[in-house]
Amino acid sequence: MTAPLIDPFARAIRYLRVSVTDRCDFRCVYCMSENMTFLPKKDLLTLEELDRMCSAFVRLGVQKLRITGGEPLVRREIMTFFRSMSRHLDSGALKELTLTTNGSQLERFADDLFAAGVRRVNVSLDTLDEAKFARVTRWGRLPQVLRGIDAAQRAGLRVKINAVALKDFNEDELFTMTAWAAARDIDMTFIEVMPMGDIGNEDRIGQYWSLKDLRAQLATRYTLTDLPDDTGGPARYVRLNETGQKIGFITPLSHNFCESCNRVRITCTGEIYTCLGQEGHSDLRAPLRSSESDAVLDDAIRAAIALKPKGHDFDYSRQAVDGQVSRHMSHTGG
Ligand code: SAM
Ligand code: SF4
Repeated sequence: MTAPLIDPFARAIRYLRVSVTDRCDFRCVYCMSENMTFLPKKDLLTLEELDRMCSAFVRLGVQKLRITGGEPLVRREIMTFFRSMSRHLDSGALKELTLTTNGSQLERFADDLFAAGVRRVNVSLDTLDEAKFARVTRWGRLPQVLRGIDAAQRAGLRVKINAVALKDFNEDELFTMTAWAAARDIDMTFIEVMPMGDIGNEDRIGQYWSLKDLRAQLATRYTLTDLPDDTGGPARYVRLNETGQKIGFITPLSHNFCESCNRVRITCTGEIYTCLGQEGHSDLRAPLRSSESDAVLDDAIRAAIALKPKGHDFDYSRQAVDGQVSRHMSHTGG
């Protein structure tokens, strides 16, 4: 049997997030600039290469695979990839195949995703106000996303909403969004805005809304019960007693979650980032392309995991954003 991936701090790597494209049909203000230059197609892993890469990680012990981007559902023929990954679900090696999406293409693909074995999907949605939605996504249209969410639920997919907490933007929608989600039996996760990439003139500090404050606001209306912390990720969860909803808080800037980190990320060009908050990465595309045998790739993966750092250096405590990383979230995959 192949030895599982264990990093130098004795953390077993069980969770892989893969960005399948850097492109997107939205231009969210905290994620991209309006005029993005995307990578040349030849730099991207082909669908066959993505399959080989993900299959290598599954062979090495990864049990959860999250597909992200950019917008994963705008990658041409991406359903071929999902269908192909379902063989690892069938074999039992992979416990979960899932994705993070902006929802714009869900109406088209919800049934196909379910048929490929996907059971849960994270949909990013920061506001329920049509005009505000258009402003924050620049190119997005709210009704299309809402139809996508309906289609996903009809198809049998469990939907979770991810909302970036933005000061003076969606603060006033905390209760309307929570109630809207509760009525649809949808859990929610709030994300603190992270300092990633050059996104034009947006003022990141001005956008920052502390989840400590968000949580305190929730507690004025609901009874919050802390849930055990077993995901190995940056989210902390509570249950709202009144609605039964699970609410997550992702606070990578203010909470040290690194000691239990079980995940690594692959970019659409085949680089592996073993820490979201660090620049350090290794190239897996060259080893992948260098040989038809998977032995070279497996060795490169093990070598990269051996370099996984202990933790990240984000720091908002001074007025400048320290520890900022220059790449876009759409490159590494959120
Ligand atoms: N396009 C898909 C989507 O929006 O769900 C998947 C990729 S997107 C980069 C993944 C997640 O990252 C989204 O929930 C998005 O809100 C979040 N995100 C993007 N930029 C961010 C930032 N600077 N800080 C915090 N979250 C961010
Ligand atoms: Fe696209 Fe997702 Fe980034 Fe928005 S957050 S621009 S939907 S990749």
